[in-house]
Amino acid sequence: MSNQLLLTPIEYLKGIGPSRGELLRKELNIHKYGDLMNLFPNRYIDRTRYYKINELQNTTAEVQVVGKIIHVKTVEFGKNQKRLVATYTDDTAQMELTWFQGIKWIRESLKLNEVYVIFGKTSNYGGQFSMAHPEMELLEEHKASLRSAMQPVYPSTEKLTQRGITNKVINKAMQQLFLEVKGQFIETLPNYLLEQLQLISKNEAMFNIHFPKSQDLLAKAQFRLKFEELFFIQLQLITKNLIRKHKIKGHLFDKVGTNFTDFYSNHLPFELTNAQKRVIKEIRNDMGSNAQMNRLLQGDVGSGKTIVALMCMLLAKDNGFQSCLMAPTEILANQHFIGLTELAQDLNISIKLLTGSTPVSERRIIHEALENGTLDILIGTHALLEDKVKFHNLGLAVIDEQHRFGVEQRSKLWHKNDIPPHVLVMTATPIPRTLAMSLYGDLDISVIDELPPGRKAIQTVHRYDSNRLKVWKFLKDEIAKGRQVYIVYPLINESATQDYKDLMDGYESISRDFPLPQYSISIVHGQMKPAEKEAEMQRFVSGKTNIMVATTVIEVGVNVPNASVMVIESTERFGLSQLHQLRGRVGRGAEQSYCILMTGFKLGNDSKTRIETMCKTNDGFEIAEVDLKLRGPGDIMGKQQSGVLNLQIADLVKDRAILMLAREHALKLLKDDAAMAKPEHQKMKAIFMEMSAKKNIWNYIS
Ligand code: ADP
Ligand code: MG
Repeated sequence: MSNQLLLTPIEYLKGIGPSRGELLRKELNIHKYGDLMNLFPNRYIDRTRYYKINELQNTTAEVQVVGKIIHVKTVEFGKNQKRLVATYTDDTAQMELTWFQGIKWIRESLKLNEVYVIFGKTSNYGGQFSMAHPEMELLEEHKASLRSAMQPVYPSTEKLTQRGITNKVINKAMQQLFLEVKGQFIETLPNYLLEQLQLISKNEAMFNIHFPKSQDLLAKAQFRLKFEELFFIQLQLITKNLIRKHKIKGHLFDKVGTNFTDFYSNHLPFELTNAQKRVIKEIRNDMGSNAQMNRLLQGDVGSGKTIVALMCMLLAKDNGFQSCLMAPTEILANQHFIGLTELAQDLNISIKLLTGSTPVSERRIIHEALENGTLDILIGTHALLEDKVKFHNLGLAVIDEQHRFGVEQRSKLWHKNDIPPHVLVMTATPIPRTLAMSLYGDLDISVIDELPPGRKAIQTVHRYDSNRLKVWKFLKDEIAKGRQVYIVYPLINESATQDYKDLMDGYESISRDFPLPQYSISIVHGQMKPAEKEAEMQRFVSGKTNIMVATTVIEVGVNVPNASVMVIESTERFGLSQLHQLRGRVGRGAEQSYCILMTGFKLGNDSKTRIETMCKTNDGFEIAEVDLKLRGPGDIMGKQQSGVLNLQIADLVKDRAILMLAREHALKLLKDDAAMAKPEHQKMKAIFMEMSAKKNIWNYIS
C-alpha cells in the first residue's frame, strides 16, 4: 500500500469525522490511517462455529465447544486454596474446565453427562487444553439463543465508550479503512524468512488479524505480526550494539599494573568466588579492547559486586585513569566510601566522597583534585552529575543499583569527557533474561550467579499480626545471642501522612516492648535530615543499637553482617522485588538469618502469590520472573524504560519463544549482511531506517 494513504488523517475516514477523530487521537493515540490499521484486537468473540477439542489452537481467541462433563473434582493447591476441575469431553479428545471462585455453587449446579456448549479462552498446559470460568449453557438453551458472527474486540477506554465510539463503531471504521486502502500491504520481511519460518504474508496477516477467516489463520496472523514486531526491535538493538563496538572508541586498559596485582596477591580479604573471577575477566577483556565497554553486571544481593567494582577501578588507575562510583542514596554512597577506603587502605590510591551534604569547602578540594588528576576514585550520589564536577580523565564509571537511575543520567556521565568512559552498571534486581535482552540488547551482560561460601540460606516465614507476641519473643532471643534486627515499615510515598504515622506508632510500641536499658533502637526514614539519618545508621552499624526501625530507605545496599532478622510490616503493600531487596539486608554474615513477613488476615490473590514466592525461594531470578508475570514489564522497569515495551501486539512474557526466535534470526541476518545491502533486504532496510528515524528505540536506551 502506498505510504501516502497510510498518512491520511484519521478524521477523513468515512464515519469518523472531526469530533470522533479528536477522541481517537486523545484516547488511543490514533492520528492517521496507519495508526488505526495497527490497532490490534485484544481478543475475538467467535460464536460462529463450534470447535472440536482436537482442533483447539494456541490463540488468545475465545472458542465454543460442544461436549459433556464426565467427571468433577476439587483440587487443593497452595495454602487453603481450592479449584474445581471438570473433565470435559467430545468425541475427539478431553479438556479441563476450571473454577477458582464460587466452587460450591458451581459444583452443585453442574450436570454430568449432559451436553453443554462452553465458551471462553483456552490455555494449554503441557498439551492439555483448559478453560477457566467458561460461559456455559445446556445445548437446548443454546439453540434457543441468537449469536453474532466472529468479532474482533479492540482496545478501548471508558471515555470512548461513553461518547459512543463502541467496539462496533471501530469495527465498522476498520472495514471502511480496508475498503479504502484495498489491503495492499508491502511485505516487510525477506521472502526466504517467510518460507523458512512458514510465515504468512503481511497482507494476509493484516487482513486476518482484523477479520479472521478462521482460528487457524488468526493464529498464523498473530504469530507473523508478533514475530515481525520483535524482529525489528532486535534488529535495532543488535545493530546499535554492533555500531558501538566498532565505532565508539574506548580507553584502552591494556596494562595490569601494580595496584591490581598488589591487591589481588596481598590484600584480598577473602578468596573470590569463581563467578566473581569470571566476571572480572569478562570486564577486563572488554576494557582491554579498543571499544567502549557498556556492561550490565547482574548479581543477587550479597553476591559481592562491590569488590568487583573496586578491582575494575584499580585497573583504571593502573592505566592512568580516574573512575567514579555512583550510588542512588547517600547512605549507600557513604557505605561504599567506607568499605572501599578500608579495602584499599594499603594501596596508594586516593578516594573521596561527594554527596549533597558534602560541605562547600570540601567540595572545592574535591573539584580541584579531580581536575588536576590527583584524585583516583570519586564515590557519590547524583551530585557526581553536576556540571561543576569535571574529571581530568574519567576512564570508568560504575553505577550501582541501576534501576534507580534513569537512562538520561547514564548518558550524562557518558558525556563528561571526549572519549566516553567504560560503563559498568551494577544491579541487584535481577532482570529476567527476556527483559534484559529486549531492553538492554545494547548492553553486554555479566552475571554473578554464585554467593560467597558459607552463607546460610535465609529462612523466610509469613506471620499474621495476631502472632506478634511470638515474633517479638523470637527477636528477643536473637538479640540475646548478640544479633541485630531490622523492622521495616512501608512508606511508599514520602508524603503519605498515614504511612508516616504508622511508622511512628510502630516505633513507639516497639520502644515500649523493647525497653531501655536492655534494648536500644534506631530509626531512619526519609523525612530526617541526611546528617541525622547517617548518625542513626552509624549507631546501628557500630552495634550500639539492637533494632533498626526504618522505611525502605534501607532497601538498597546497606551492609550490616551482624543483622540476622528482617521483619517486614504490612508486607502486602510491598512489591516482590522490593521485598527481595529488603530481605537481602540480612544473611550477610555467617549466622542463620530470618525474614519475617507480617500481614493482617485479609490478603488479595497477588499478595498471597508474592508472599508464597518469598517463602519458597531466595533466588532473585525466579522472583523476578514471578514479578514480571504479576506486574507486567512496564511497571517493573519504571516509566522511562517502559516506552520500548510499548509493543503493539507482542507480549514479552507470553511471547518469549517468539522473541528468542526473532533474536536468533536477527542475529543471523546481521552476521550475514550487517549493512542490509543485499537486494532481498532492501524493503526491510527501508522500514528499519524509518523506525530508527522515529527514534522510538534509540531514545530509550542509553
Ligand atoms: P552486593 O553484591 O549485594 O553489593 P556486597 O559487595 O555488598 O554485595 O557483598 C556482600 C558481602 O559479602 C560483603 O560483606 C562482602 O565483604 C562479602 N563478600 C563479597 N565477596 C565475597 C567472597 N568471595 N567471599 C566472602 N565474602 C564475600
Ligand atoms: Mg551492593
